[in-house]
Amino acid sequence: MQKTKFEELNLSQHMKKAVAEMGFSEATPIQAAAIPVLIEGRDIIAQARTGSGKTAAFAIPAIERIDARRGLQTLVVCPTRELAIQVTEEFRRLFKYYDGLTIVTAYGGQDISIQLRALTQHPQIVVGTPGRLIDHMWRGTIRLDEVNFVVLDEADEMLNMGFRDDVEDILSYVPQSRQTAMFSATMSPDIMRLMKKHLKNPVHIDTTDHKNEVPKIEQLYCELLETQKFDALTSIIDQRDIKAALIFVNTKSMVDRLVSRLSGAGYRARGIHGGHEQCRREMVMNSFRDGSVKILVATDVAGRGIDISDIDTVINYDLPRDDEDYTHRIGRTGRAGKLGTSFTFVVGKELYDLKRIEKNGGFNIQRMDIAGLGQKPSRPEAKRRVETDRTKDSAPAARSPKSTTGDAARRPASKKNGRTGEKRQPSSHDEGWITDSTGFKYKLI
Ligand code: ADP
Ligand code: MG
Repeated sequence: MQKTKFEELNLSQHMKKAVAEMGFSEATPIQAAAIPVLIEGRDIIAQARTGSGKTAAFAIPAIERIDARRGLQTLVVCPTRELAIQVTEEFRRLFKYYDGLTIVTAYGGQDISIQLRALTQHPQIVVGTPGRLIDHMWRGTIRLDEVNFVVLDEADEMLNMGFRDDVEDILSYVPQSRQTAMFSATMSPDIMRLMKKHLKNPVHIDTTDHKNEVPKIEQLYCELLETQKFDALTSIIDQRDIKAALIFVNTKSMVDRLVSRLSGAGYRARGIHGGHEQCRREMVMNSFRDGSVKILVATDVAGRGIDISDIDTVINYDLPRDDEDYTHRIGRTGRAGKLGTSFTFVVGKELYDLKRIEKNGGFNIQRMDIAGLGQKPSRPEAKRRVETDRTKDSAPAARSPKSTTGDAARRPASKKNGRTGEKRQPSSHDEGWITDSTGFKYKLI
């Protein structure tokens, strides 16, 4: 790609001087692409990795258009106070040679009177976090009627942190004639929806190298009966050499039921949901993080904040009730460039829901058959015994023939000790069975 010098970017002398002083000679790709479009006055949605210079990409055109004699014109919304402070500092360095420009940072946690005093100086630029900005809007200390440029910085983070409603609230108070720019390191269906609603004919800029950037998540689904879910789950656990598996269910009581059923069957599993005390949740998370527990069962709310790069398996034991949760759930794996697999169990009509999730989210979720699940004779008696005896030590024995074998996630950990999968493996003349890198066998259909 050809390099763009700041000299070529048609900037004011003041700006060129400041940029040179900051040690920037060439514009980063996102700056080279976004600055001319923003100066032209168009809305943009810009995706670029962290550290690629997104701040100056919006701060330079913002400063270039500001009229020092007027009130608040540029509003930047950031997910955290640290970011708000960083963005403010970058603005200050960039407008150093402009006369009469004032900027105020508005974030929670700081005594509001400091911000109230600063706001009486009639800043042209305000950088803030959503909650505090709304607070000032209600107090009437920030007026948005002259704002003509709004930036949603780190939009993905903002949505991940649950600021969607606040962001939409803020946007609804800014005049429609404004220019809007959205910057993000990643692009999710959530962001696309926000963009469609609030941006006018935006220019898309994407400087990420998608080959490296997109989380590597293989997404599979399996159609089964409700009564087959547990066997399907243990089949996946038995056959995959799991480092860490996150299992999502829809209710707190289901978390508890599934954990006790897994424990009863000899698997070391723990559960996490909003009904647990904070210290218990932390203990469970620590044991999951350090690998002493490999199977964690969670509700959506509890699972949302889990950011562990080693999660290689996500299982949607229950299909999420809210379509958007699918993205959040599978996003727990495939992090930091690692490979992850998600399995979604689908019962009956839920298939329609999954198809909708796939279409709206732009996913490719492939149908699979779990080796042995279909062929497995139902063993109602053995099953019943597991159900009733699951809290007793004898329960694992009832899981014949599985209980005779071990696996990575089981107690005692003896994965070399013969894989449960052997029994379920399709015969060699079965066509189309795939063994993945973890030894798990499945078939795409
Ligand atoms: P992002 O928002 O994309 O994560 P930042 O805007 O925080 O990235 O920029 C990251 C660092 O790169 C900052 O220290 C910034 O001053 C610096 N930077 C920005 N643009 C340039 C440039 N054109 N040349 C050199 N350094 C730059
Ligand atoms: Mg940034």
